[in-house]
Amino acid sequence: MFPALETERKQETLPDPYEDFMYRHLQYYGYFKAQKGSLPNSATHQHVQKNNPQYLLNVSFGERNDLIPDTLQKEKLLSLHIQIEAISRDSLMLSSPLLRSRQLLFDELDQVNPRLREPRELFAFFSSKGTLQAPRWPIECEVIKESIHHIEWVPPQPEYFYQPTGNEKVPEIVGEEKGTVVYHLNPVPTEGFYFTSSRVGGKRGIIKELAVTLEGPEDDTLLFESRFESGNLQKAVQVDTYEYELTLRTDLYTNKHTQWFYFRVQNTRKDVTYRFTIVNLLKPKSLYTVGMKPLMYSQLDANIYNIGWRREGNEIKYYKNNTDNGQQSFYCLTWTIQFPHDQDTCFFAHFYPYTYTDLQCYLLSVAKNPIQSQFCKLRTLCRSLAGNTVYLLTITNPSPTPHEAAAKKAVVLSARVHPGESNASWIMKGFLDFILSNSPDAQLLRDIFVFKVVPMLNPDGVIVGNYRCSLAGRDLNRHYKTILKESFPCIWHTRNMIKRLLEEREVLLYCDFHGHSRKNNIFLYGCNNNDRKYWLHERVFPLMLSKNAPDKFSFHSCNFKVQKCKEGTGRVVMWRMGILNSYTMESTFSGSTLGSKRNIHFTIEDLKSLGYHVCDTLLDFCDPDKTKFTQCLAELKELLQQEIHKKFNERGKEVNLEGSWSDISLSDIESSTSGSDSSLSDGLPVHLLNIVDELNQKMMSDKKKKKKPLQTRKQRNELHQKNKLMPEFKLTEDASVRKPRGLLCCLVPDIP
Ligand SMILES: [Zn+2]
Repeated sequence: MFPALETERKQETLPDPYEDFMYRHLQYYGYFKAQKGSLPNSATHQHVQKNNPQYLLNVSFGERNDLIPDTLQKEKLLSLHIQIEAISRDSLMLSSPLLRSRQLLFDELDQVNPRLREPRELFAFFSSKGTLQAPRWPIECEVIKESIHHIEWVPPQPEYFYQPTGNEKVPEIVGEEKGTVVYHLNPVPTEGFYFTSSRVGGKRGIIKELAVTLEGPEDDTLLFESRFESGNLQKAVQVDTYEYELTLRTDLYTNKHTQWFYFRVQNTRKDVTYRFTIVNLLKPKSLYTVGMKPLMYSQLDANIYNIGWRREGNEIKYYKNNTDNGQQSFYCLTWTIQFPHDQDTCFFAHFYPYTYTDLQCYLLSVAKNPIQSQFCKLRTLCRSLAGNTVYLLTITNPSPTPHEAAAKKAVVLSARVHPGESNASWIMKGFLDFILSNSPDAQLLRDIFVFKVVPMLNPDGVIVGNYRCSLAGRDLNRHYKTILKESFPCIWHTRNMIKRLLEEREVLLYCDFHGHSRKNNIFLYGCNNNDRKYWLHERVFPLMLSKNAPDKFSFHSCNFKVQKCKEGTGRVVMWRMGILNSYTMESTFSGSTLGSKRNIHFTIEDLKSLGYHVCDTLLDFCDPDKTKFTQCLAELKELLQQEIHKKFNERGKEVNLEGSWSDISLSDIESSTSGSDSSLSDGLPVHLLNIVDELNQKMMSDKKKKKKPLQTRKQRNELHQKNKLMPEFKLTEDASVRKPRGLLCCLVPDIP
């Protein structure tokens, strides 16, 4: 049976290990707050906090410390905690020596006899019965009980791009005043709100029926639903018998990032043409303008004919919305479709969905496989904000001697920092399928490398159907320099894991998998290397990959510029930490413009094959016979020389590159990268902005007080002591620019 189902059903009677742990945690939390008899838990805290800094200060610092890897960090936190106490003496913060204990637990009935913390096995992600831990949702999210599952299928015929005729209709958006609302989620928390707590199954209580009630068998209104993993439809308005205007839900706790869509319709009729128009997209440019079709899945086709997701749609048009709210421009995607069956259940999606549960099912199969589990160790890297597990896989063959084990180089791969880029998961799946196989090449790779794999960096975002952000309402791939471990646990722990790995061995390659919304094909972003000794070496792997996957991977689309706005990305941070071959892999949501796959959409199989090609290219890259490597390097120099000539010619200048041409800065030659990883950081998480404001105000008032003439030496000493305890606040979170002791990392609520 599908494991998620089992977990779902048992959740009321048999709490999973994490629930159990959280219960204990909250008991302690209650003790800390002296709330005996009224233990707070997710059931009684079903509300969203808005602009309430006091709540932030009134939190526990004790329980998550077992996730802190080094003593130094712990000490830093403890000392910072003491500082916070000093600052917030008049807030609700309580000072208690118990806070300093990390090993002892006190519960309600047994206060005098503290007991030792439960061992780490409480975090075990697969229970002894082999069931999965069900996803945890923010408590304001309604989630239907049904489990959604799609079959994997590859269409036998190529799915060509849509060829625009020029006669596509551009429907005028009429809105709910002139139409009928047939599906509407409760208003979702947007900008100004922030995540507070989570539970398995999301919102407690009865889930409202949001779809309309049909008036009889003749009523052919479509029934919409999206309250399932990765679903994100906010509203559907029927504007004509078979025409619907759709509004997508923005990323939670933000008012932007609409791009990903995934929803279900029921009560279909065949032989009629339906039109769907998504009305609140935000990107001015889209692959839908150059032939990309939406994906459709018919449940009856899957059940009867074993047919899965396929590219469908006619009269596809992407255009600017005629309604304007004066602040933001919206864009529309419209398409028409004929459903294959009457009374069918169908799904639409921006790309082949790959959910957190899909990942867990896959990892469970690896954990249960007696051979794969020998060389693939599954660990918890950390918990996400909502308490979902971020998995870390270590894949390597046992070495015959410690010396050989120590000599192995490492390769780090990650995916889904951007939750709406499910492309990344399919490439990751292809990689894992191959590296865990018994192919001789896979065995060789496991012999010579240690692979560290984080297959889903942002499980919360994937679960709730976000496109770009985590539950902190921020793009995690702009925060890799963060010191805010509690706000950005997934990337903080990833960076820390890589930092420790680098202390242990050379990391040959780091690659973070993404999806790209404006370009076709697959390509890499890398980092120009300034060391002449390794000049152009960072481009060898991408060039080799393009030779191994010529119909899918475009070397021409690769870019190696390190822009200021990308400083917080995984690629640049890992490069600055010393990984020369540090990449973002971008794979299109659409298809290829190359070779035999020209004008054809990528299938799941195409994406998975890229995972294999990464492995294949690694072997070429590390071949002791350096012929391929030196050939590629020579080719790169030739390519670059041509590029320089071209640029100079464009500017109408003559150039003589004899001798010194390699001194020209590579950054000057390349244009900047753009597309899915081009946005700027939004700064600190929302819940911290308020508290920083408060503390800054407090500092200002303290400074004013300082100006008053002091009367006694005692008073001056007291003030001196107070100032010593009061660190200076700055609106930043970067480790590289932080002010004295990074106090902010302690100001984050210990969110269950
Ligand atoms: Zn991305």
